[in-house]
Amino acid sequence: MTEKYVDLHIHTNASDGTFSPSEVVKRAKSLGFSAIAITDHDTTKGIAEAMQKGKELDIEIVPGIELSAYYYNTEMHILGFYFSWEDGLLNQRLVQMREKRRNRAAKIVEKLRYIDIELNMDEIMQNASEDKAVGRLHIAAQLVKQGYCKDINDAFKKYIGKGCVGYVPKLKLTPAKAAELIKESGGIPIVAHPALSKIEHLLSRLIDVGMMGIEVFHSEHSLQDTESLLNFTQKQNLLITGGSDCHGYGKPEILIGKIRLPYHYLEKLKESVPQLV
Ligand code: AMP
Ligand code: ZN
Ligand code: FE
Ligand code: FE
Repeated sequence: MTEKYVDLHIHTNASDGTFSPSEVVKRAKSLGFSAIAITDHDTTKGIAEAMQKGKELDIEIVPGIELSAYYYNTEMHILGFYFSWEDGLLNQRLVQMREKRRNRAAKIVEKLRYIDIELNMDEIMQNASEDKAVGRLHIAAQLVKQGYCKDINDAFKKYIGKGCVGYVPKLKLTPAKAAELIKESGGIPIVAHPALSKIEHLLSRLIDVGMMGIEVFHSEHSLQDTESLLNFTQKQNLLITGGSDCHGYGKPEILIGKIRLPYHYLEKLKESVPQLV
């Protein structure tokens, strides 16, 4: 039997990816994936369309989410898989998170005005319509489009990254609260890209507050990062996930296809979902 592969971290244009859910599924199919997870920031809007397309193309769609949490001032991302994405407590909280994102986008634009950067607010807010989650990547893209920055990285470095004039944090959820929300909705909380977030020193604490696994494989983790995270998860018998974190054209490179996680990791994940066993 040939090995089956999955990508458990993909964004759509429901948050800050540039591909529609259908386009993501089509690309995943043509790259030979058996399953993918849709993990947009603070919204489940893309999941239904992806599932529809998944049925059509015979590719399994895992419902997911990527939440942001803060431990003191350290930001980290928490992935949630297989939570009840059509209703439930988490969904109610997501509405508040998106509202906060809208206010924050306006605040960032206002702060940038102090330094004579006049961004087109309407264009930015198009990404906040319906149930979409507007984010810094949209503002970065606008900074590039209007000629204030040479690329997305430049925008984060000069204007909207932590410590910059336009930096504004989001709704301050603690990691414990994020894990609780995901679990209450029947889902599995996983610490996203710990090496990219530089939070390896917090991992034990995060496991203590309810995280059930770690995203070991990620397109921005080095081989060394991956090995040491693999070691950590195996020693502690934690779940292991992996994904490209593709944002379409939102990042310098189209990342889907960069991480091919063997299907057995997804099988193991599914075994720990109460409503699937
Ligand atoms: P937000 O959730 O609105 O704070 O935006 C976070 C998003 O911005 C994530 O998807 C990150 O991948 C992206 N991001 C953060 N820092 C950078 C950076 N330096 N260059 C490009 N994208 C970044
Ligand atoms: Zn993103
Ligand atoms: Fe992330
Ligand atoms: Fe992500």
